[in-house]
Amino acid sequence: MSSLSQDALTLHGGCDCTSIRFTISIPALVSRPVLPYPDLFGAEIWPPQIFLDHCNKCRRVSGALVQGWLTCPQDWVEWAIKSTSGEESPSATKFNTVDLICAKPGVLPVVNYASTEGVTRPFCGRCGTNLAYVFEGRKEKNPIPMVDIVLGSLDTESLEMPGVRPERQFYWNSGVEWIKRLVTEGDSSVGGEKLPRHPDGSRMQVV
Ligand SMILES: [Zn+2]
Repeated sequence: MSSLSQDALTLHGGCDCTSIRFTISIPALVSRPVLPYPDLFGAEIWPPQIFLDHCNKCRRVSGALVQGWLTCPQDWVEWAIKSTSGEESPSATKFNTVDLICAKPGVLPVVNYASTEGVTRPFCGRCGTNLAYVFEGRKEKNPIPMVDIVLGSLDTESLEMPGVRPERQFYWNSGVEWIKRLVTEGDSSVGGEKLPRHPDGSRMQVV
């Protein structure tokens, strides 16, 4: 089980240009719903679920070697989005996730990419930061509307909080072999002995 606090806690994040910010309000464990995926996980689990994703599509969309997600009920997430009015410091308006993925181009600085049928991946139209994944078909297995938040879009302070760590790796069999080795074995797996050691002992230069 995750070492995430069993008390209520709040995580923050958003896009690079700060046009879009979000707040994830995680209630105390006793108020978190059990997720209906016992067959998949072999046990009852509670949100948030934090995981790495090796599928090719998520890798391409993110542009990162490995995508990371934080999955939770949509009603835990509040979005604050600045308008496109061109003001120097436009105030942010609060939205829920459904509002976000229904945003019309040009009204808000949100672009919703329909990557596959029933899937919406909102990203910031100003800076390009990928923010979330919403899958309509998930309702068939889980009546609670869920959203996957791009883990890397969380603020550094939130990512460094105890327990905010990936617990599992999804789509392992779809992954690129050397990326999987890099994630599980560390940097020596990609360079081996052929690369000179950095003075700090690592084989990939740390700068
Ligand atoms: Zn942005």
